[in-house]
Amino acid sequence: MTDRYAVFGNPIHHSKSPAIHAAFAAQTGQTLSYQAILAPIDDFSGSVTAFFAAGGMGANVTVPFKEQAFQLCDELSQEAETAAAVNTLIKLDDGKIRGDNTDGYGLVADLSRYLTLQDKKVLLLGAGGAARGCLLSLLAAGVGHIDIYNRTYSKAEVLAAIAPQQLQALRRKELNEGYDLIINSTSASLHGELPDIPVTVVANHSYCYDMMYSAHTTAFNRWAAEQGAAKTLDGLGMLVGQAARSFYLWRGVMPKVEPVLESLRQELKGEAS
Ligand code: NDP
Repeated sequence: MTDRYAVFGNPIHHSKSPAIHAAFAAQTGQTLSYQAILAPIDDFSGSVTAFFAAGGMGANVTVPFKEQAFQLCDELSQEAETAAAVNTLIKLDDGKIRGDNTDGYGLVADLSRYLTLQDKKVLLLGAGGAARGCLLSLLAAGVGHIDIYNRTYSKAEVLAAIAPQQLQALRRKELNEGYDLIINSTSASLHGELPDIPVTVVANHSYCYDMMYSAHTTAFNRWAAEQGAAKTLDGLGMLVGQAARSFYLWRGVMPKVEPVLESLRQELKGEAS
């Protein structure tokens, strides 16, 4: 029987994961199937349990189920534990389910294509699941210090407590000037909105990264370019990178990200025109 994988979400029709994993499988000569599954909002656990009972080998989990996925795992990676959110489920030989979070891996791999992270002064905008999922990977990559700014300050404080020596929650008026790297992990761009931050956080050496991606330049990246940022990047590379890491965790083979990223980028350009 062909090894079965899936992505669970609600909604899920827009997911690029089936296409990404089909491309990885073709590229690495692996035989597998990967489908998108619309899990009922009130029965994610039932949907996942049925999938694994029917022979499923692994799955990705997306909005809004990452926290529920965390709850149902028998064991967890350190990244998943810190994030309290799981985007990758792995069925182990003894039938137990292991949860991992590969978002941080995807972000760091993508950023590392453009800049050295060592000792960089970073501003992280947002304190939701994506921010939490990326902190350990950013610290492991050697960034010097991360200031965290969130609309709801108390959530930034909770995140900063994960590594108080290197993380600091700041209020708007406390933000520093000219960060080396500004990562927007808020979902503001989804609605064409901007986090409320002063223009002085951007300097002409700043790299600005919006975790969101779309056919058109995101609101945050448009704003950052207007402030004279050195470079603006979107989250498409993070998406393919986190998928590659999931694929590796399931299959023990690391696919090449670049060709898949390039073809998705062309697809998005096609959608924009
Ligand atoms: P959550 O819902 O967990 O968190 C949302 C965050 O955004 C919170 O910090 C929230 O602040 C903040 N926020 C929402 N709206 C606004 C606004 N108008 N102004 C300022 N802050 C706002 O979402 P996730 O962390 O799961 O996802 C965040 C983003 O990251 C999404 O755009 C998602 O698409 C993207 N993402 C991309 C991935 C990729 O592979 N490229 C992977 C995972 C996520 P508050 O606490 O005050 O509510």
